[in-house]
Amino acid sequence: MNKLLQKAFDDSIAYRTSLENRRVFPDSKMLEEMKRLDMPLPEKPKEPGKILDLLSSAGSQGTVAVAGPRFFGFVIGGSTPVTLAANWLAGAWDQNCGMDTTSPVAAFVEEVSLKWLLQFFGFPSACGGAFVTGATMAGFACLAAARSHLLNRHGWNVEKQGLFGAPNINVVVSEEVHATILKALSMLGMGSERVTKIPTDKMGRMLIDKIPKPNGPTIICVQAGDVNSGCFDPIDEIINKFKSDDVWIHVDGAFGLWVLVSSKYKHLGKGIEKADSWSVDAHKWLNVPYDSGIAIVRNAEALRSAMSISTSYLKSTPGKRQPNEFTPELSRRARGVEIWTAIASLGREGIAEIIERTCSHAQKAARRLADAGYKVLNDVVINQVLVSFGSDEKTEKVIKAIQEDGTCWCGGTKWKGQTAMRISVCSWATTNEDMDKSLDAMIKCAKGID
Ligand SMILES: *Cc1c(COP(=O)(O)O)cnc(C)c1O
Repeated sequence: MNKLLQKAFDDSIAYRTSLENRRVFPDSKMLEEMKRLDMPLPEKPKEPGKILDLLSSAGSQGTVAVAGPRFFGFVIGGSTPVTLAANWLAGAWDQNCGMDTTSPVAAFVEEVSLKWLLQFFGFPSACGGAFVTGATMAGFACLAAARSHLLNRHGWNVEKQGLFGAPNINVVVSEEVHATILKALSMLGMGSERVTKIPTDKMGRMLIDKIPKPNGPTIICVQAGDVNSGCFDPIDEIINKFKSDDVWIHVDGAFGLWVLVSSKYKHLGKGIEKADSWSVDAHKWLNVPYDSGIAIVRNAEALRSAMSISTSYLKSTPGKRQPNEFTPELSRRARGVEIWTAIASLGREGIAEIIERTCSHAQKAARRLADAGYKVLNDVVINQVLVSFGSDEKTEKVIKAIQEDGTCWCGGTKWKGQTAMRISVCSWATTNEDMDKSLDAMIKCAKGID
């Protein structure tokens, strides 16, 4: 055992150290190496050390260097060294986080982390919370709580009676809604197309005048941080105008919610604490290892009603918060360990520093690309930049050239009908030098297409 664990440890350190100079996306030769993992169907046991060596040498070739400093695709954080270390430790502990009887420590770090998160965000201390795989499942849990609560008010127990014949729930989303909210709605039987989509302004903010007056049970989903532009919906105005007992306001704050920790950026989330539920990722801006997100619900009982399991054998200590009463899953890894470690090690100042530094990197990227003659399509309010290099066709070619160059990695998107490259700066590891190096490479690639 010692030798195996020591090898994983040594190889992990060598891997993380190599990311500084490795190309971000594997080239075809590296991807070919990865294919060594496809062996004839294993029938007999093999020496674990050899298998670990194969996984390490061939598997690492097929990785994308998201843990390194120059990955700007999608919205993806790196993991700080101490949260990776905590992840190793939690892996060694191998805890089932479902109940305090399966792991007192896993249940306890969730309780402490949730308390800290609520304090950071300025939410009531009685909120319920679920530690799930990411914002997709966090949105799912929040919307399940919304569904449960709104129908309960109308004498309908959706957990027991199901949705057939239930009172209607209207769902209002932005036309820029993240696709995972629609997926959550589809999993909840509320339908991804049975929604009212509200048009947005140039930056992707919902036009409040276009939101119809709620009529009956209604869920309004707003965004704190659009996945493309980084913009925030006018959340305060929407809540003040529409909030009522029959209207549940959900905030998709997968990365944007973290601005609440920064005194410089928290104004963007004005009024957000008045919402009913919030989904947020830890594996993006908090920079913990995959996979990790949190659902937070003002009415903890609504979340518990939607998620709790009743059986005779799942006995746990009475009066204690039982993690599985709030999550879709029963058995689960101890995700709270990394979140606890991130918060304990960075503190409010450390988290705010990552947010402010990555936002300033994004602003620098926007300035340099504009100075080089390219068009930045969004107001760079936080860490997201959308850039067009000219025609849609040219922008696509430039994105491909940047990805092939390998110095950094950016993806593409469609923004208001136009092809754009997205730069999302989320990683704690990105330095000024990394930004310079990446921007030099981007501009060189773009010039090469002219
Ligand atoms: C990333 C993201 C999601 C989905 O989160 P996952 O962690 O991938 O499940 C939802 N909403 C927004 C705004 C996001 O940025």
